[in-house]
Amino acid sequence: MNIFNCSHNINIRGFEDDEVVTYPLIRLTGTVEWNENIQSCQEETSNLILLIKNSNAKLKVSCYDNKFKVLLELDEGRNEFWLTYGCRSRSIILSYSPLKSDYQVTPLYVICEGHNGKFQAPSNENNDIQSACDRILLATKLLQCFSAEKMFENGLGRKTFNIEMKCQIFHSKVKCQDVPSMNQQQLWESIGRDIMTSEIGSEKQKYLAFLSCTIYHGDGYTDSMKTHEELINITDGYVALGGGGLALFGTACLYTWPEKIEDIICKFEDETLVDKSKFLDDSCYRGTLGACFSTTLGSVLHELYHTFNLGHTQNGIMGRGFDNVQNFFLAKSHLPGNEEITSKSFQDHIEFKEEFEASKLSERLLNENKKKEYSIIKKFEDDHCTFLTKSCAVMLCYHKWFNSSSSVTTSYTLTYDRSNKFIRSTAGIRVVEIRTEEDEMITYDWTFEGKVLKFSFQIPIEVFQDKRNYLLVVEDNLGNILKATA
Ligand SMILES: [Zn+2]
Ligand SMILES: [Zn+2]
Repeated sequence: MNIFNCSHNINIRGFEDDEVVTYPLIRLTGTVEWNENIQSCQEETSNLILLIKNSNAKLKVSCYDNKFKVLLELDEGRNEFWLTYGCRSRSIILSYSPLKSDYQVTPLYVICEGHNGKFQAPSNENNDIQSACDRILLATKLLQCFSAEKMFENGLGRKTFNIEMKCQIFHSKVKCQDVPSMNQQQLWESIGRDIMTSEIGSEKQKYLAFLSCTIYHGDGYTDSMKTHEELINITDGYVALGGGGLALFGTACLYTWPEKIEDIICKFEDETLVDKSKFLDDSCYRGTLGACFSTTLGSVLHELYHTFNLGHTQNGIMGRGFDNVQNFFLAKSHLPGNEEITSKSFQDHIEFKEEFEASKLSERLLNENKKKEYSIIKKFEDDHCTFLTKSCAVMLCYHKWFNSSSSVTTSYTLTYDRSNKFIRSTAGIRVVEIRTEEDEMITYDWTFEGKVLKFSFQIPIEVFQDKRNYLLVVEDNLGNILKATA
């Protein structure tokens, strides 16, 4: 029969033909159509077939409710893909051209003095230094792709951060045997100072660092342990903390992460239960290896975003929505719909200057109330829990790490007059946020995305009526950040 009468069809969502992106790992989504009421050809239609022209590789892509999502790695330059569904074929050409920028995210595997570099893992998983680096770099690319799509969702184009495309190994002076007695803040501070005083230390890098020597002591586990905190208490070198130039993480769940792009989906879908007598369950009480991957990857994203100056929001990635980052990557949502759970508290996080000033940081930490309890009701719904609010997205959009850097240093002033609550900026104000001082919850925000720049802003007096302690965070058109007591 004439194929033009057949109802087979393929729609690609969001990408234009010949589109250029600045990052290598992309998420291609779309829908397939087939109307069984219309007489159609006899072609097989259970899967979408994707042909990657550059490598001549063929992929079978599963469709759920006629939707597909597939992760593809682009070569630098031009990439041609052919999609076939039933009798219908169509191509799409996408090009990858990295951002020209001095500002980068550097994936780092930190090996403490006296440690062999092997992370905790079951015997059927690779756990050597190369495996760690492969997993860390791939995860960083996933977060880069995620960020681009979230910006796109917010109408800001597929902007994202630039990655140093190699996971570096960093030998820290921190001694392996000292790690068990150090808390998260101490680890963060020591390793941060160590990195910044080493030859790789640079103000233009955000280090996404993973500590090789994290150990969960499963022999200390008993069935009476119900909370995440109890499991953390029997884990040495547990850390998930981001701010300034460093986001630092433990590796107790690194074995649940994929080494290769083709393993991403099956790692997210792995419903094997965590054996808590041997390994840390960091899954927001879901208990599976797939959920551990999702929660820990999501927490890396959340902490990395803190290094990009983002604050907290009630929901979404900057709330506890980061546990469900898997739904961004999976065509089929793997959690029951509409189930409401009361989540645990925010992970502690700290913000500080890039210089890793030990004294000031310690002072701040002493003043910090460490017992933060926030109950957040969240819903497991498709991809809705992983959103970025407008002010967060706009802050990233103008952030130095999301833009190509110019060699010319533009002079600017960005000031806040606290007595009359007035902001002045010579480069133009893009984002104004009022955050609570104790947990950086964004309470009020204003964004200015227009072509006509805004050089001053008066904070409405109503903001201060409840007499709470607020922080002011302002970003200008050049990505300069002002942070002050409001
Ligand atoms: Zn057909
Ligand atoms: Zn946080």
